[in-house]
Amino acid sequence: MAVTRKKVSCAIFDAPSEMPDNQLPTYADVMKLYNLTKQRLKYELNNKDPPHHNVAEIVITKVEQIWDKASIPHVSHRRVQEMLNKHHKTFMNLLKPYKFRKDSGPYQEKISQFKDESKKLFDICSCKCSFISQCQCEKSRKIPAIERDFQEDQRGPRGMIIAKLQKRYIRKELTQRQKCHKSDIDGISEKQIFVRRFLLRKRKLMLAMTNLITIVGRILINNLES
Ligand SMILES: [Zn+2]
Repeated sequence: MAVTRKKVSCAIFDAPSEMPDNQLPTYADVMKLYNLTKQRLKYELNNKDPPHHNVAEIVITKVEQIWDKASIPHVSHRRVQEMLNKHHKTFMNLLKPYKFRKDSGPYQEKISQFKDESKKLFDICSCKCSFISQCQCEKSRKIPAIERDFQEDQRGPRGMIIAKLQKRYIRKELTQRQKCHKSDIDGISEKQIFVRRFLLRKRKLMLAMTNLITIVGRILINNLES
């Protein structure tokens, strides 16, 4: 049985793996981590299948950590559990009679559909408004304005990353102002980010000082004239 399941899990989600921590996880990311966690616990339990709840709890905690890192509010722990349980149940139901159905056309179609659905964001966001810009949620459930582009990207093309928050902002700034290639932006090191932030702050400070000098100058001129 164990051998069959291993083969099957590869057929749907490829090899079990850790979740990427620079993007909000998709259903597939969640299930790959689920399979990996299950394998690890099974090993620790001398090849005994771990209870689903124990595996799910580890995976959910990790998912919530990534959302917290991205500073995007999410639904309750219980609701995340329900979402994972539902997807896991569909996954298991799809696997159970695998051996006898694996060559059937309609069954292959079903698997392919499930795989496509699993590429979507495992969306635990507390805001479910269709248009984030017109969000009517109460404050604790609202996506911070600065994170809205990222959240929309993660629901769609998924071209942005969490990395360090600063990196994302600089990335956005570069994309808008200099129209850099994505590969150029990906290559920015943490040191370069630090330097850019420093230069940005320096520029703001210089601007503030110039304004101050102008104001003082005007006051002095007015005093001399009067
Ligand atoms: Zn909302």
